[in-house]
Amino acid sequence: MHLKRLEVQGFKSFAEKIVLEFNSGITAVVGPNGSGKSNISDAIRWVLGEQSAKTLRGGKMEDVIFAGTEHRKPLGFAEVSLCFDNTDRTLPIDYSEVIVTRRVYRSGESEYKINKTNCRLKDITELFLDTGIGKDGYSIIGQGRVDEILSTKSEERRHIFEEASGIMKYKIKKQEAEKKLEMTSQNLLRINDIILELE
Ligand code: ATP
Repeated sequence: MHLKRLEVQGFKSFAEKIVLEFNSGITAVVGPNGSGKSNISDAIRWVLGEQSAKTLRGGKMEDVIFAGTEHRKPLGFAEVSLCFDNTDRTLPIDYSEVIVTRRVYRSGESEYKINKTNCRLKDITELFLDTGIGKDGYSIIGQGRVDEILSTKSEERRHIFEEASGIMKYKIKKQEAEKKLEMTSQNLLRINDIILELE
């Protein structure tokens, strides 16, 4: 699996639609200060489900939408699509090309899509579990992250290894199952109370 293409429209400084093709090998994005290099990695984080405006270097989520310039009006929505080559079926979906899309309007309304079909954020998160891709994945190492990784507590560092070794998926499924079990136990307790009241 590899990243093939990034399409950005109305996101931060990119008012016009831009398309970045990633060929095999290394791609370097270069440009003067403030030209939008970091906005590209922000766009990748955002489409993968980042919910923290602070991580995206803004104050609120609306700040990701092109805010306008002297010569151009602000836009009403931001949309980012990320396209992966999935011929090796690393992503558990039966398509050779997988495109994830996120769109947000100024009203705060959000849309997520996998291969042009509406989906939930949870579907996108699950799709990339254990691949190293994802908003918290190790495939995006931001400025200062290397120091952070080296200096954090060993339990926090463990998360990175868990994701790389492919057990994160099972940990999350286990947590979900435990939550369901807890809810079922609570329901059983309530039913027992009702039965006692009726007897
Ligand atoms: P540096 O090399 O200094 O780190 P950079 O190339 O990484 O810079 P970015 O931080 O990606 O640059 O881009 C910053 C630019 O994006 C600023 O000019 C800022 O005004 C612009 N920008 C950020 N959010 C928006 C927005 N919502 N609408 C319009 N422009 C925006």
